[in-house]
Amino acid sequence: MPSKDKEKNREQSRRWSNTAKGREYQKIKVRQYKAEGKCHCGRSRVGKRLCCDVCTADKRERTRVRRAACEAAGLCSRCGWAPKEQGRSLCSVCFEKTRATRQALKLEVMAAYGGRCVCCGESNHNFLSIDHIFNDGQARRKEEGAGTVFYYWLRDRGFPQDRYRCLCLNCNFGRRINGGICPHEEQRAKVAAEAKPAPKPRPAKPVCRKPTLF
Ligand SMILES: [Zn+2]
Ligand SMILES: [Zn+2]
Ligand SMILES: [Zn+2]
Ligand SMILES: [Zn+2]
Repeated sequence: MPSKDKEKNREQSRRWSNTAKGREYQKIKVRQYKAEGKCHCGRSRVGKRLCCDVCTADKRERTRVRRAACEAAGLCSRCGWAPKEQGRSLCSVCFEKTRATRQALKLEVMAAYGGRCVCCGESNHNFLSIDHIFNDGQARRKEEGAGTVFYYWLRDRGFPQDRYRCLCLNCNFGRRINGGICPHEEQRAKVAAEAKPAPKPRPAKPVCRKPTLF
């Protein structure tokens, strides 16, 4: 029987969920939520992400605390037991692993956006970046993070094509410095304006042939 005291209720349900019956019920519930495509807590989730926003934020906070503890102890913040490398927060093994993961993720993202710069056609992935078409990068970075976090964010949302596109770093920076237009674009417009339209070949006059009479 639920009482009016909320803390007391919570304590009661906590104790119940620790019993064998409670654990069994939890398992069934989690299975049901997952079958419905929801987070294990029953809230809905976005894209490929396994948890809802609340659980994701919760998990992030726990990771942050754990990492800070490792950092303070001079240990790798990923595996938690090997000593970290000089000037890094990871051990050498974990550093290589995360680099490989990052690289693979970047390749996946770039491939999803065409794999080449939409302005100049550069296709070396080391030069490629994702451009915010509507110049809202700063605001989004503040909200959702940058770099690898941004790539995960894009993947979770199925690589939206309406706001983002692939640009090489040259074109991306060129556009930023040049007030929103890549210098290549201006160059192309200039060349197109200078090039005079070639004179159209005259259509050949239709030859009227009178039928020859005998
Ligand atoms: Zn959740
Ligand atoms: Zn490690
Ligand atoms: Zn380019
Ligand atoms: Zn360009």
